[in-house]
Amino acid sequence: MIRIHRGAPDTSGAEQLDAIQRVELARVRALGREPSGEDIGSRYRVAAELLWQRQSHKCAFCENVEQLRRNDVEHFRPKSRADRLPGRSESHGYWWLAWRWENLLFSCRNCNQAAAGGKGKLDKFPLADGSGVLVAEQDPFGAERHVEQPLLLDPSVDSGVEHIQFVKRGGRWTPIARDGSSRGARTIEVCVLDRDDLLELYDAHVEQEVTPRVARFDALHPHSSPESARAVWIAIENELYRSGMAFVGLSYDALRTQVDDDDLRQWGLTRRVPT
Ligand SMILES: [Zn+2]
Repeated sequence: MIRIHRGAPDTSGAEQLDAIQRVELARVRALGREPSGEDIGSRYRVAAELLWQRQSHKCAFCENVEQLRRNDVEHFRPKSRADRLPGRSESHGYWWLAWRWENLLFSCRNCNQAAAGGKGKLDKFPLADGSGVLVAEQDPFGAERHVEQPLLLDPSVDSGVEHIQFVKRGGRWTPIARDGSSRGARTIEVCVLDRDDLLELYDAHVEQEVTPRVARFDALHPHSSPESARAVWIAIENELYRSGMAFVGLSYDALRTQVDDDDLRQWGLTRRVPT
């Protein structure tokens, strides 16, 4: 997971979303009860293409490059029902955020609703023990931003690299919590970021994208100039961390494993941390 820069909703897609939000909020408020998923409907999908573009066509959680069609506009705070375990047992959804730009992400179906066994994010929104819980119409992007302590990382706010680390385990690249981060661990679990189909893609990515680039660095002659070493290294980081490249978080740890800090130091280089 890498931080996404969704930007301000300043294009026609988002203006449509604002207009839809006004109409839909008035409609569901008039119900006089908590709206169901059916009541909420799917008009928030008007934001799908804009989110997909802003996220460089990548899933917000697993960082795989995905098609727009067949994938989801995902609500960070679930819209009609929320499972807040382990921290809280209330189950009302965040219906008033169903059309709110800041609560929407483009996500692949596998992260959002994995096919079998109730895996995938679905309506899970785990909160930390002792967290508060928002009630209807409170604003987690404004005045009430400190009420809840989500355990799920928000890709538009939090650094995935800070909380999730990729290690080679049993011969396969696998995500684990970095430095024991409970939010990293919970995000891996909720979005099943260690599912088999992803492990295959992680391994292929390192083999095809990271290792051949590292070979360019390893091929530097001991008497090469520091300037030429710097040019090679910076090009490698720029290529692997550019927007639209899959699995940037994985590339960071694979690079760390294949080129250690001492190797960099001898050329007077430091490592960039993608955010
Ligand atoms: Zn995904």
